[in-house]
Amino acid sequence: MNILVINCGSSSLKFQLIDSDTENWIAKGLCERIGIDGSVISYTPAGGEKEVKETPMPDHTEAIRLVLEALTNPSTGVVKDLKEIGAVGHRIVHGGEKFASSTIITDEVIEAIRECNDLAPLHNPANLIGIDACRKLMGDTPMVAVFDTAFHQTMPPKAYMYGLPYAYYEKYKVRRYGFHGTSHSYVSHRAAEKLGVDFDQQKIIVCHLGNGASVSAVLNGKCVDTSMGLTPLEGLIMGTRSGDLDPAILEFLANKENMTLSEVMNVLNKKSGVYGLSGDISSDFRDLEKAHNEGNKKATMTLEAFCYRVAKYIGAYVAAMNGVDVICFTAGVGENAPLVRSWVCEYLGYLGITLDDTANNKRGEDIVITTPESRTKVMVIPTNEELAIARETLALV
Ligand code: ADP
Repeated sequence: MNILVINCGSSSLKFQLIDSDTENWIAKGLCERIGIDGSVISYTPAGGEKEVKETPMPDHTEAIRLVLEALTNPSTGVVKDLKEIGAVGHRIVHGGEKFASSTIITDEVIEAIRECNDLAPLHNPANLIGIDACRKLMGDTPMVAVFDTAFHQTMPPKAYMYGLPYAYYEKYKVRRYGFHGTSHSYVSHRAAEKLGVDFDQQKIIVCHLGNGASVSAVLNGKCVDTSMGLTPLEGLIMGTRSGDLDPAILEFLANKENMTLSEVMNVLNKKSGVYGLSGDISSDFRDLEKAHNEGNKKATMTLEAFCYRVAKYIGAYVAAMNGVDVICFTAGVGENAPLVRSWVCEYLGYLGITLDDTANNKRGEDIVITTPESRTKVMVIPTNEELAIARETLALV
């Protein structure tokens, strides 16, 4: 079956058409600047050239219409008719406490997702617009919602409760939810499969290090803790997000810099992380590594701070699970930055970890990067959230 995977943001939309038999993508692309001047759609059929076209996209319905038109285009399309698309899988950012697994989209499900809008005001409304646009244009094609938060719903209260008045949990459901769940689930399952061990009897730590970054602890097949919280701002130092900090900094900065609370939040989300810490060198680790190699001290300190935070979270999750069997690195930085992996692993001698430098310098494959003698295994597993969404979708339809 061909499954269309849609990841709809406020002004962008990523899509992939996946053949569920081969699990290969047969076309993929991106709509950018939806609702803004200069909208662009890029489209790549498997084995073909990438096409980029500037065309007006006043709203998401028009963006989806253009995606469907590209997929069925007589010369460069990959299907003859929309009937050849058997199902649509939508990535939904926040499922709150309502969704512990993926679900077929119905009117009730849409309403329940809407009720989570307060928890992800930038993302969930955009995700819902994507669902609405597909429903308008694809009639009865079954659709599935796959939540970023669902995999983490197995966390126990001691891991998800904050030290705040309990009433805020009761009234507003203020708690840790965690994100990147589809990736943490995919990567931890894949690690067990690749090692030929039982997923339900492993202690796995997944470090999803991309522009957004999070760590999770997966004990005997269930997520028991993760570093992102009510929102994706908590935890690691990220591309532009601060991660953990003393909450008193918010008021302190607001007073010193004469900023409103939302201006401070904007700094924490968009101007902090490795970007802000490096003195605005870049949020991209390639630029930071280059600057570090050229002797830029701020770049070196930034990379050290990033790796130190990752190592501290690994230590915390070793404590949470009373041990660890496998540590996995994934996403843009985790998959592509041997330097980051080796700096993180330097802190992990107490786990008996010894890196295999040759393996650590390879790219783009599921691989163990520790030596055979290493007491704990470290792996690089390229994440594939689209494939994970397609699998979930297939399982439900
Ligand atoms: P997201 O999906 O959160 O936007 P990705 O997982 O695609 O992010 O990761 C993007 C980041 O990966 C880039 O910002 C960059 O820092 C990092 N990255 C990509 N390629 C490399 C590389 N070759 N070396 C180091 N870092 C890389």
